[in-house]
Amino acid sequence: MQNGSVDQVWDILNQVPDPEIPVISIVELGVVRDVKFINDCCIISITPTYSGCPAIKTFEDDIKTSLIKNKITNFKINKVYAPAWTTDWMNKETKEKLKNYGISPPSNQVVCPQCNSKNTNMISEFGATACKSMHKCLDCLEPFEHFKCI
Ligand SMILES: [Zn+2]
Repeated sequence: MQNGSVDQVWDILNQVPDPEIPVISIVELGVVRDVKFINDCCIISITPTYSGCPAIKTFEDDIKTSLIKNKITNFKINKVYAPAWTTDWMNKETKEKLKNYGISPPSNQVVCPQCNSKNTNMISEFGATACKSMHKCLDCLEPFEHFKCI
């Protein structure tokens, strides 16, 4: 029995939002590495973002729920740790979405997402989650989160 197609699965995964940043999908984040069918089983390879990131359990649960909702029930989620996930796997559009959402995208230069000022101060190495740090813009005085570059 046909259990979905590679394109269909990518489509479904592209609609699964990042549990922490709802404006970007797990595909845009670069977590989904590969989708393939072996016999009739769909094998989805995912790479956790930051090692020990608690979100990986949420990623898996959200993927399972979305696939089952789309009647794809014969699948396996395969975790791949090498090569390690890096913020380079996010494309320009994704970084732009982050910025519009108010999070300074991963880059060596922290830029205020509100006014584009580079005149910022780090308040805390950890924001709401370990993968983000807290900053304050010294021009518009707005606090913001920066997605750490790894
Ligand atoms: Zn600013």
